[in-house]
Amino acid sequence: MLKDGLKNRLKNRLKNSNDFAVCVELTGGFGYNFEPIEKFLTDYQNSGVSALPDSFSLAAVTVPQNPGGVANIEPADVLSQLEKQDLLKGLDFLPHVTCKDHNSSAITSSLVGFKKFGISSILAMTGDKPAAAKGVFELDSIGLMQLILKMNNDSCLKAKPENLSDNHQFFIGGAVSPFKYTEASQMQQYYKMEKKIKSGAEFLITQVGWDWKKSAELALYMKDNKISTPVIGNVYLLSTITPAPRLMHDIKLPGCFVSDELLEKVYSESVDDHIERAAQQVAMYKQLGYAGVDVGGVHDFNMFKKILVRADEIGDDWQQYKDNLCWPAKDAWYLYDGKGKKVQLTKFGKKFNQRTFDMFHRCILDTDHKGFHVFKKMMEILGTKKGKGFFYKSFNACEKAAKYILFDCQECGDCFLPENFSWCTIGGCEKGMDNAPCGDSTADGRCGNNLDRICIGEYIYKAASAKKGGLEKLRLMINRPRKTELEHSSSILNYLFGKDHTMQNPLITIGESIHASIPKTGKIMKELVALGDDCYSKPSPQLDYIKALIESQAGDGADYMAVNLDEFGEADSQVTVDMMVEYVKMVRNWGASVPICIDSSDDNVLIAGLKEWYNTTEFVKQPLVNSIKDHNIEKLMPLKKHFDFAFIGLLVSEGKESVDELHKLAKQIFDAAMEYGFKAEEIFFDTTVFPLAIDMPMEPGKSGYTYRAFETIKKIKNDSAMKGVHFSLGISNSVRDLPARKIGVARAYVEKAMEYGLDAGIVNSAHKFGQTPADGELVKLVDAFAKLDGNMDDLNNAMMLMGEFCSKNRKPV
Ligand code: SF4
Repeated sequence: MLKDGLKNRLKNRLKNSNDFAVCVELTGGFGYNFEPIEKFLTDYQNSGVSALPDSFSLAAVTVPQNPGGVANIEPADVLSQLEKQDLLKGLDFLPHVTCKDHNSSAITSSLVGFKKFGISSILAMTGDKPAAAKGVFELDSIGLMQLILKMNNDSCLKAKPENLSDNHQFFIGGAVSPFKYTEASQMQQYYKMEKKIKSGAEFLITQVGWDWKKSAELALYMKDNKISTPVIGNVYLLSTITPAPRLMHDIKLPGCFVSDELLEKVYSESVDDHIERAAQQVAMYKQLGYAGVDVGGVHDFNMFKKILVRADEIGDDWQQYKDNLCWPAKDAWYLYDGKGKKVQLTKFGKKFNQRTFDMFHRCILDTDHKGFHVFKKMMEILGTKKGKGFFYKSFNACEKAAKYILFDCQECGDCFLPENFSWCTIGGCEKGMDNAPCGDSTADGRCGNNLDRICIGEYIYKAASAKKGGLEKLRLMINRPRKTELEHSSSILNYLFGKDHTMQNPLITIGESIHASIPKTGKIMKELVALGDDCYSKPSPQLDYIKALIESQAGDGADYMAVNLDEFGEADSQVTVDMMVEYVKMVRNWGASVPICIDSSDDNVLIAGLKEWYNTTEFVKQPLVNSIKDHNIEKLMPLKKHFDFAFIGLLVSEGKESVDELHKLAKQIFDAAMEYGFKAEEIFFDTTVFPLAIDMPMEPGKSGYTYRAFETIKKIKNDSAMKGVHFSLGISNSVRDLPARKIGVARAYVEKAMEYGLDAGIVNSAHKFGQTPADGELVKLVDAFAKLDGNMDDLNNAMMLMGEFCSKNRKPV
């Protein structure tokens, strides 16, 4: 187990802009030999920390996982060995975690192992294509980062408030290559870097490369785009002491580029010249503002020391060695000209196959097009929805043949052709990545793993550029990992019948977790606000908790994220107003574009939240305001003129309890909303949810609350004058006071309410209500309450079922 002080050594250095983090990349020797690693670290320990210049002290050892796609010692085994021999004294350990030879379960297991060891920093990558084995690539670097981020968020959310600062968090790193020489490959690298940051990357390490202009270009791109993620420059000792220069030059190490001129130069030089170039590169990265360097290709500690000592001597004067650090490809493309001005990106034209795909897609697969509905109906009539039978098989066979010919389709069953601008990243990519490209393309845009094909990333970029707004879409689009269970099934029918990644949750999910009345959340919110004026920007475990709440709900597929802070406004409502502004900013920043649901009983809080949501130059989705009631219509609805929003219309009014009265109230709100320019689908009605456990009207002829709520939903949803409105309920209240199985009963409650027309819910998004079927017994229980129209027999039945449920599920004393 890593000693406490070491776990975050790299992280602390990278987060502190005054420190420069030096890492050394070590690999096992021929024949799965630990010796080179052990020897390097033994020599380091024997020389003493002071052997290295103060400004370049060593922070971490990085260990690649099966580099080059060739079997090697696992980083976890290297770690155990080094710990056993106490060779990590004073050093952090940064393992590479890749997707090439592990599926998502195996990666999770290996991450759990690192977590137990106390490892914090992880370099998450897609990985090299295996040289002599079948690649897995179930995830790519982005899917892997999302998986790690989820582990981090789960760990944070499970921690007790008093232990928040102790919960384990991985510090996720990603790779980026500025050393690409076509516009498409380079821009895709920058876009992918941004996607990695959005997916959880907190630091970056560059690919190897010898072109100072490209190293400077990355720094400039980050500055231009206000990206402050720390970047570690990769320094590889390019020397004839290993075959690496030749292998890189001959494209035997995909992603690494050595030009003819550089190869010739390296072969004409001495090893000291090679060391000198590496030292110049270290000095260059430091002066360009990189957060550190990762030095590879050196297994001799003395050589490593020479590089750093010399880099220290060079200091900021590396520019005199510019020529020695500039070995670009012929016809190299740069994003900035010599004066630092951004060049114009090329506007590529649409190719025939893209036009054909777009036309075909628009005609029968675009839900806004009539052809889609006709085609879907036809497929339904033929019984293809069942996923079996003659017509299904015939369709699937034709689809496979056609898509193989047109797109190199490999039958993943979860098609991303529309997202990838008509290019398939399974058949068209050697790694079959969800978010192509990787960093392996050659200087002229071919695939580094198969020189006979153009990298799929090139095609996608050009196709995106041919569409209006396509490049911005490409820049923002993050494809989810494919649904592996759909493999070999018909992707068109999966799309048609909502089984693939485009599947809409039948229940519009309004995440309920950011609510100050939830005891743990409220406690942490209070602690956060007590940290002072900068509490929403200064790192703290409490802020991490709120971030985890936001990110996890977005990851769980919430359609809206509700924020309710009313607990804070009891004494002074301005406190809630000010806090709402801050929480709106946080949801906007960390919520992965999920719109906010501003929830308050105070109109001023709603107005402040709405204004803040639009206080940005970025595009934001339409928010939801919770709630408009009969008495604040005139105050809130006129805001529609200035801010586009949807709202929850609360069907609660003194003395109005019957289904007819609630329906009338809904109509009143609806009519007013129409006058103010709302569309029907921008209105969500909501009414009181009563706990099932106490919903037992004892007076004969008096209906139950659940009955009233469900019948109200039915009446409103069946009213053609209000066609298109939604109905939402705060589901959690229904299970209050039950002894156990609250999630199961809530699931049954949703399932039953959906039969009446419910299509939205304020719920815990992690529970996936509306997607997973509920337990039949529990549905029967809810159904009994849904029928309580005043009939005493029905009441007896409901009471009996509730009695049985409680006695079966009573917790042992
Ligand atoms: S096609 Fe492109 S993205 Fe796919 S493996 Fe080759 S270089 Fe990587």
